[in-house]
Amino acid sequence: MNDPVGPVPDRSPGQVWLPDLSINSVSSSYKAIPMFKLPPFLCMLLYSLSGWTQIQPVVIPTSVRIPMDSLQKQQLIRCLDGLLSQLSGANKDNVFVQPDYLPETSDLLDEVKGMGDSIPGMKVPCHCYLTNVNQLDSGEYLVQFSYLGLHDSTPVLRASFKLVAHRVGEGYIFSSPLKRNTVGWATGQYADFTFHYSNYTLDETVIRNYIGKAHEFDAKLNAAAYRTEFYCCGSFQEALEALGVDYKLEYNGVSGESLTAHEKQTSLYVVGGYRNTTFDFHDLWHDRLHAVVPVSTINRPIDEACAYLYGGSWGLTWEEVFRQFKSYIGDNRDWLTAFNENRNFAQPKQNHLFVSYVITALLIKKIEKEKGFPAVLQFLTCGKYQKDNENYFQALDRIIGVNRSNFSATIETLFEAQR
Ligand SMILES: [Zn+2]
Repeated sequence: MNDPVGPVPDRSPGQVWLPDLSINSVSSSYKAIPMFKLPPFLCMLLYSLSGWTQIQPVVIPTSVRIPMDSLQKQQLIRCLDGLLSQLSGANKDNVFVQPDYLPETSDLLDEVKGMGDSIPGMKVPCHCYLTNVNQLDSGEYLVQFSYLGLHDSTPVLRASFKLVAHRVGEGYIFSSPLKRNTVGWATGQYADFTFHYSNYTLDETVIRNYIGKAHEFDAKLNAAAYRTEFYCCGSFQEALEALGVDYKLEYNGVSGESLTAHEKQTSLYVVGGYRNTTFDFHDLWHDRLHAVVPVSTINRPIDEACAYLYGGSWGLTWEEVFRQFKSYIGDNRDWLTAFNENRNFAQPKQNHLFVSYVITALLIKKIEKEKGFPAVLQFLTCGKYQKDNENYFQALDRIIGVNRSNFSATIETLFEAQR
């Protein structure tokens, strides 16, 4: 590859630019296109891009052959630029997303976000290069693009993605290839949950318990009904490729992760390293809460405490977590100090279990029993974690009259009652 990380022309704010495809090179000049000459469809799309600033246009290396006439090439590249330029906003508002495929495309675009920034430890930003366009059928094309950075003089591949481009009018909109990549997979339908899988036998007992627990959490949260779709992949690499992520530097050596999105009344899970422990009630609590309550309002330690209480942790039930906590804490009953120190009492293979989460779980039990779950939700949404826990204690005092002065005595009573 000849100097793949060359300079990219800048665009001025408010001006629409089009790559000069006759030159078709990283050093191409870019020409301003008057808006009045554009077809109505593109004018509508481009008008919505009035927020375009500091855009890094996709670079078209000379080696890439695009099997389209020159007008269609321009339209495709302009629309791909449009898609990527709107990544900073909500995916559902990106006008270049094919709306029928919003959940999986949103999941994929979340992976693309930030790839144009510099790689940690390196100074220069990465640039996006078109690497392949391949016709799938009369109105659809596979589009591949990669982000490359430069470390000293060595090119570094940061990420590589695939999208499906759908011809609409005189432009293109884009989707994740997830459905296309999994078209031959088996499907299992259980109530409002759908499982897509291959080379795997679903354990019906595990699935039904999981769905029952999800509905229990939804009832607690007073959540309106929504669909849940699982794509059960054999490995994380398979999950990435199914969604349209060919490579991502950050995921080198990573296994057993999932890629999730919640859009259009659908929760989507593209699960890597799929196994029965995927159906963990602790993570399920987080997922069902985050689907209906804005994450920006949630106090994460209180969310974790709820997850301990309602779903256990690391495969342990809440009762087992509490028993382990009890033997760890021993005769140390200075509860406010224990809460503030927040030590990890996990055993090997449990990763972490934190003292403050168990103490908060005892308080949540008390709040729910005395005031009902809406009061727990008020506590949960007291705002982001603060180092001095000021918002935590203000909410606790307001909801149930517990403050720093009576905290230790209250926890001692709850601890004894839990025994
Ligand atoms: Zn958690």
